[in-house]
Amino acid sequence: MQFISTRDSSPAVGLGQAIAAGLAPDGGLYVPRQLPAKRQLQAGDSLAETASMLLAPFFEGDSLAPQLAEICRQAFDFPVPLRVLATPDDHVLELFHGPTAAFKDVGARFLANALSRLRAQDTTPLTIVVATSGDTGAAVAAAFHRQPGLRVVVMYPDGRVSPRQAHQLGCFGDNVVALRVAGSFDDCQAMAKQALADRALQATVPLSSANSISLGRLLPQMTYYAHAGLQHHASSGNLLNLVIPTGNLGNALAAILARELGVPLGQIVLATNANDVLPRFFDGGDYSPAASVATIANAMDVGAPSNFERLRWLYRGNDMALRKAFRAFSVDDATIRQTIARRHAGHGEMFCPHTATAVQVLEQLREQGQDGDWAVVATAHPAKFESVVEPLIGMPLQVPTALAELLARPAHATPVPADYQALKEQLLA
Ligand SMILES: *Cc1c(COP(=O)(O)O)cnc(C)c1O
Repeated sequence: MQFISTRDSSPAVGLGQAIAAGLAPDGGLYVPRQLPAKRQLQAGDSLAETASMLLAPFFEGDSLAPQLAEICRQAFDFPVPLRVLATPDDHVLELFHGPTAAFKDVGARFLANALSRLRAQDTTPLTIVVATSGDTGAAVAAAFHRQPGLRVVVMYPDGRVSPRQAHQLGCFGDNVVALRVAGSFDDCQAMAKQALADRALQATVPLSSANSISLGRLLPQMTYYAHAGLQHHASSGNLLNLVIPTGNLGNALAAILARELGVPLGQIVLATNANDVLPRFFDGGDYSPAASVATIANAMDVGAPSNFERLRWLYRGNDMALRKAFRAFSVDDATIRQTIARRHAGHGEMFCPHTATAVQVLEQLREQGQDGDWAVVATAHPAKFESVVEPLIGMPLQVPTALAELLARPAHATPVPADYQALKEQLLA
């Protein structure tokens, strides 16, 4: 399959090249030249089998195609259960059973595995530069840890991530270097961008990024929607409808693409925090990116959702049709807190702040008389956000085993000033 840029002025490339490049040269995002035709799909016995089946058309003709099944087996080695909630016909799709307890593990593990194979012939290691405000950096560090031919340099704003997140970022070592930057997340991101644009540096130190626009992260995320949607349809005869906590729109776009490929899914509704660029658009306003505001669901603090460009491409730039196809709702911090406390008190259920936005949106829909089978998508384990969740539920949270193992390791991060020279020295080291 061939991939083109959403901005239409880059040459078409194969999947391997699109994955290795991240962004297209014209600044657009890679999309398939044509989506595979809708087909009758059957869930595999395992997530890995479902992934191979779903992704095969995208890998057709690429050097990675013969390795797809093995990539899927190695990347999808944890469960993604669909559980029932206390309220009738409501479910939760739990995406947080991977090594760093957030859904980003899925995409990061697939991307790392694929990139490592693409780099197998190269003698110079590829360095992945990541700026993180928390979740992404940990998932990428865990996924790339000890992958041959790859190195990760991850930057985070010192003192501005949770103690557990900081520990996760610093606990890998080996081919993962953690830098704690005396500055903000925006400073970290600016340093990463400067490095990725530094052609002289890249002649000696090849660089790449692993952010959420990479096809190597986006495409595998279709898998859990396919697995849940197909199994639910087979067992109940009903379509599963989804409410998805949304920031950069990568997770929701994967669900939308899965439905385009023939996965039996019903409505797809977006839940955001106070960053309401998408709700304003779907309510009939213009698409107007804004500076992000800080919330307690911080992995969704996004003012300019990067994958929106892909969604517009999918609807051929027809904003009217796009607005008809989706609904989006914004949930403020006070309501997120209330939802976490109320669901725990009423049903013993525990949600992270991101997942709680979706739970609240589903409650709104039900109040308006919405019927059918629905699932909220749980993007992280609540124990990752213990400082928000524990005071609301009045008890300590059990830490999942994989996360506890990371927290038990020693951690180290090198302090650096918020200055590109400091990053460059680390990259050259
Ligand atoms: C990244 C993240 C999100 C937002 O996902 P997008 O793909 O950016 O929309 C939601 N919840 C958690 C816990 C995350 O880490």
